[in-house]
Amino acid sequence: MRVPLIAANWKMHKTTGETRDFIARFLPLVGDVRGVEMVIAPPFTSLTSAMDALEGSDVKLAGQDVFWQESGAFTGEVSPSMLVDVGCRYVIVGHSERRQYFGETDDTVNRKIAASLAAGLGVVFCIGETLQERESGATFDVLKRQISDGLKGIGPDGLVIAYEPVWAIGTGRTATPDQAQEAHRFIRDELSGLYGETARSIRILYGGSVKPGNISSLMVKEDVDGALVGGASLQPESFADIVKFSTPPT
Ligand code: PEP
Repeated sequence: MRVPLIAANWKMHKTTGETRDFIARFLPLVGDVRGVEMVIAPPFTSLTSAMDALEGSDVKLAGQDVFWQESGAFTGEVSPSMLVDVGCRYVIVGHSERRQYFGETDDTVNRKIAASLAAGLGVVFCIGETLQERESGATFDVLKRQISDGLKGIGPDGLVIAYEPVWAIGTGRTATPDQAQEAHRFIRDELSGLYGETARSIRILYGGSVKPGNISSLMVKEDVDGALVGGASLQPESFADIVKFSTPPT
């Protein structure tokens, strides 16, 4: 059985004080949530305050990015073991904003995934096509390439996939549940080619303008195992409503 995973990607938002305030308001809202893994990925600067504020709760912490080297002269970078050291259980790798603005490639993504898994982190590996790629009919070719190059030499343990169509991120335009399911099914078939039966246990999250009002219709789809949430994860109330997707607000 795949336990649903709902992860907040705060991107470059929230100071340490805002992080503590969010968590103080969020935890009481999700105190009765069972059977859903909850993850928050604050900016690096807020990881320690988040960890302190989350103490005693089931909510896990994630980094938004990582470098593949263990230590050394790599100004500005953070290693997998540094993320583990501040309490992270997961790291997001290959987010489309990293690919688009910071030159991330399938090769660098591959190195980051390998180093993170080796350090004991779970990896949320992001893939997805641009609008131009979708409109030119290249969606499945793009996903196939991102999976085969990104996962070259990598085993399935600790792996989570996030399908995030670039055209749906921060745009308010969500993939329809059927579009999401079609892509997730394709991704699972590709994972089966790599890992056989084990692919059935790998969680595939959907990301792209997920909100309290659309999460339930996505989560009913067979191969949608959770969500990676940007904008709607910045308010404790809306993120809590997403986490409680099986009992949507009335
Ligand atoms: C994201 O950043 O991964 C994301 C899906 O953002 P949003 O929910 O704002 O579209």
